[in-house]
Amino acid sequence: MTRSHRQASIRLISDRPITPSNTSKNWELVQEFAKDVFTDSVMKRLLPSEAYSDLRRTIDEGVALNENTADSVANAMRSWAQERGATHYTHWFQPMTGCTAEKHDSFLEVSDGQAIIQFDGSQLVQGEPDASSFPSGGIRQTFEARGYTAWDPSSPAFLRRDTSGCTLCIPTAFCSYTGEALDEKTPLMRAGEALQRHAVSAAHLLGYDSVKRISTTVGCEQEYFLLDKQFYVQRPDLANAGRTLFGAPPLKGQELDDHYFGAIRKRVMGFMEELDRELWRLGVPSKTRHNEVAPSQFELAPIFESCNVAVDHNMLTMEVMRNVADRHGFACLLHEKPYAGVNGSGKHVNWSMSCKLRGNLLNPGSTPQDNISFLYHLAAVVAAVDTHAPLLRASIAHSGNDHRLGANEAPPAIISAYLGDQLTAVVEAIVTGNSLNENDGGLMHLGVEALPPLTKDPTDRNRTSPFAFTGNKFEFRAAGSSQSVAVVNTVLCTVVANALNEMNETLQAKVAGGLERNEAIFETIRETLYAHQKVIFKGDGYSDDWLKEAEARGLPNLRGTPDALPAWISDEAFAVFAKYKVLSRRELQARHEVACEKYNTHLTIEGRCSSHMVRTLYLPAILAFQRRVGDTIMSSKAAGLDVTALRAQSQLLERLAALYNRINNDCEAMEAGMVKAESIEHAADALVVFKAEVLDRQATLREGVDEAELLVEDRLWPLPKYHEMLVIY
Ligand code: ADP
Ligand code: MG
Repeated sequence: MTRSHRQASIRLISDRPITPSNTSKNWELVQEFAKDVFTDSVMKRLLPSEAYSDLRRTIDEGVALNENTADSVANAMRSWAQERGATHYTHWFQPMTGCTAEKHDSFLEVSDGQAIIQFDGSQLVQGEPDASSFPSGGIRQTFEARGYTAWDPSSPAFLRRDTSGCTLCIPTAFCSYTGEALDEKTPLMRAGEALQRHAVSAAHLLGYDSVKRISTTVGCEQEYFLLDKQFYVQRPDLANAGRTLFGAPPLKGQELDDHYFGAIRKRVMGFMEELDRELWRLGVPSKTRHNEVAPSQFELAPIFESCNVAVDHNMLTMEVMRNVADRHGFACLLHEKPYAGVNGSGKHVNWSMSCKLRGNLLNPGSTPQDNISFLYHLAAVVAAVDTHAPLLRASIAHSGNDHRLGANEAPPAIISAYLGDQLTAVVEAIVTGNSLNENDGGLMHLGVEALPPLTKDPTDRNRTSPFAFTGNKFEFRAAGSSQSVAVVNTVLCTVVANALNEMNETLQAKVAGGLERNEAIFETIRETLYAHQKVIFKGDGYSDDWLKEAEARGLPNLRGTPDALPAWISDEAFAVFAKYKVLSRRELQARHEVACEKYNTHLTIEGRCSSHMVRTLYLPAILAFQRRVGDTIMSSKAAGLDVTALRAQSQLLERLAALYNRINNDCEAMEAGMVKAESIEHAADALVVFKAEVLDRQATLREGVDEAELLVEDRLWPLPKYHEMLVIY
């Protein structure tokens, strides 16, 4: 019997040699950390001292860069890159596609027929890519189609290497001719500025007068799946939609919990080793690697960095993951739900605020004064999360993420904050004015002078909470694995800036009213926590009871992307983003438009893919099998066999015929749904229709196909099955 394409692949995969790793060089490789980065120390070494201090002022204090300094930096950067083999440079930016973009220019200029090398300050500082095809949500009309890229000196330039060349990448922001943000980076930087301003005011009000700058720190735990490329290329759904749209459950899923933190298979280890090495050269501080819950699912966690750099590094991590996987014969799946029935992938965004002088501001301190500062910032985050839950929800709204949120594997769509047992008790005591139980910290009569010593919470972390305080940072666990974390951080920085600003004003009013400063601070914390305690929840976020309780508490439950996206154009959003000059009304409307378009387009692609697969792969396979069974029955009859012995075959034939019809009808229904959804003019009006008529109908269509997969002869089944794809051979 001839082997199917699928079966031939399995054979090929099992015969694949494993690339031996060169462990003797590993330590040398660690020392190559950031070798391809134009780091601060490189700049210090290569720049004239005046230019270096000018540049530092630009980076640290946001002072505009003068032309001469820009020329010096450009010159140093170019010669550094050139020495390392770079022939080209690119402004590296993050349009609203969720991906990064680059357009390479060589350092080559021609003068009198002679090649000269040139790269000056103006080329470094500003670029003008003809980038009219990026989504702009209507901000850029074609007559003003040009977008500008502007150098972001706070994120270091780096070299990207591939087998044939080397390119200098300069992180940039991307805006329109009129200065409106066309990317994810610009609002992120504006939000960082807003937070910095109000956090510094808070520091001064709390008595830390010499604090000058406060920034946010971010560490993104990145989950992903690996899959053999041989399988990947055979699945049009994975290649085009990023997830499997069909597939019966695997024979063995995650029931045995034997993959989580299990020994890493050799072939995967080869991939991880090279991934780390490549990331280290790029200055990405990759730290932790392990197997995740689902079969063939893994995680990478870096050491946290300043927000802006962490966002860039996460984008880079995803790119490098894909490339290295490819070299190892894998496809790296970053979709939130590549396979139904096993866990999907998220990206935990660990978040805190910090300053040079005082370190991590969400670290419980050892003195009452430090603790009161800690509680002040904690209260601000709690207030921000409560007040702007819909915006946080919108920041992670995306068609892929809808498959995991609230599906007992990831936090629900209800945004709540978990503080741990000890801290919850402290908050309760502060809010109620009651004394604190001995076990919860030991001190009675909570007040300014008698805050309990707060230590890192020893209790088990609540994995079911979307926004958990984990000892010295918050962890936003609802972000999707494929998403840029720029948006989440833009929202977080803005809403925390707002909360700090409001608390600062309250505090100032109290002091002006004659209250002693520490009393005033404590009162401000108490009032803030009192007003926002409804968002604090320490129970099981996966339970049905929580759905009811959250409703009773008045917490919004925006289940899917169509429910969540309108928050971008709510009065609440217009007000808060305008107040802190992060996004104007027009920019928010544009972002909303882009997000709606993206959702509808993703669903359209899934619909098209499903229809193609059903009509050209699945239905023909079922038909072929029907024919085979039919032929068997016919030839048995012709041979004079007892017909009663053929009862099972006849029943199978009937089942197949019924399934064939059902799948065909369901496919037609979904196709009609697509036509209906696509005929709606405004993207925002089409969301709900796409969900009901395309996504939900696709799910029904899938049921029939998955049932057929369990009936049709293995050799005739055209696509790799879950139990094959989820195993790494
Ligand atoms: P876990 O036990 O959940 O793995 P870790 O303490 O190892 O938690 O941290 C997980 C992630 O959080 C890492 O990426 C880490 O760098 C990051 N992280 C730790 N401290 C901070 C902080 N102060 N600000 C931002 N991220 C942080
Ligand atoms: Mg985590």
